Amino acid sequence: LVLLEKVNKHFGPLHVLRDIDLSVERGEVVVVIGPSGGGKSTLCRSINRLEPIDGGTITVDGRRLPEEGKELARLRSDVGMVFQSFNLFAHKTILQNVTLGPTKVRRRKRADAEDRAMALLDRVGIGAQAAKYPAQLSGGQQQRAAIARALAMEPKVMLFDEPTSALDPEMVNEVLEVMTGLAREGMTMIVVTHEMGFARRAANKVVFMADGQIVEENTPDEFFTNARTDRARDFLSKIL
Ligand code: ATP
Ligand code: MG
Repeated sequence: LVLLEKVNKHFGPLHVLRDIDLSVERGEVVVVIGPSGGGKSTLCRSINRLEPIDGGTITVDGRRLPEEGKELARLRSDVGMVFQSFNLFAHKTILQNVTLGPTKVRRRKRADAEDRAMALLDRVGIGAQAAKYPAQLSGGQQQRAAIARALAMEPKVMLFDEPTSALDPEMVNEVLEVMTGLAREGMTMIVVTHEMGFARRAANKVVFMADGQIVEENTPDEFFTNARTDRARDFLSKIL
């Protein structure tokens, strides 16, 4: 469903993505882990063209993302993204946050979009918060609202970039549970996270990234008990 071939990206002299080859099948959950600065966020951002790449190709559902224009907005909406910081619109209610994309980009009727938004907010457990503004919600609730907002666009794949890193510890699980539920329901997901419990539980594949390269791609079982590369073993010994 998502295919990266020989993807390269520089920031000035810095080579942040080096010949990245990655394929994510429909329904697959890929967890990306690795040391800070390894290029994980850049990888996510390049998949929905928040960052232009300077070599290689990225296709989503067989279609190559164009550089710009109307087509880009539509194709980009196939890729839902949830960031570390919740990125909700502060001056809009939770419900408005979730209906904005569907009414503006997907051209859904308002009543329709609101019905679907309420169903999504119920599903992530915050239906009762729909009329509130983001600042009135806890971090965990805001992040679940951000997930509902991304899902409202009916994406083909969801990208999560450290979705629980900015949360107080007691709120991490409520967000991971929503993500685990999505994974079980067959959503295609690429998840950058340091939550190894989630990786073991939900991932079909673990990708270990360092210095802009995919150093190791493995099953979660193998990766956590018997990683192939020294680099990955060294990283795991520091975080586990
Ligand atoms: P972390 O675990 O800390 O989030 P990461 O694996 O997500 O790290 P990236 O954020 O993708 O790493 O950064 C990869 C490299 O690119 C780093 O060296 C970073 O400093 C650099 N970088 C990222 N964004 C930019 C930018 N907009 N301009 C210049 N350099 C950047
Ligand atoms: Mg990052």
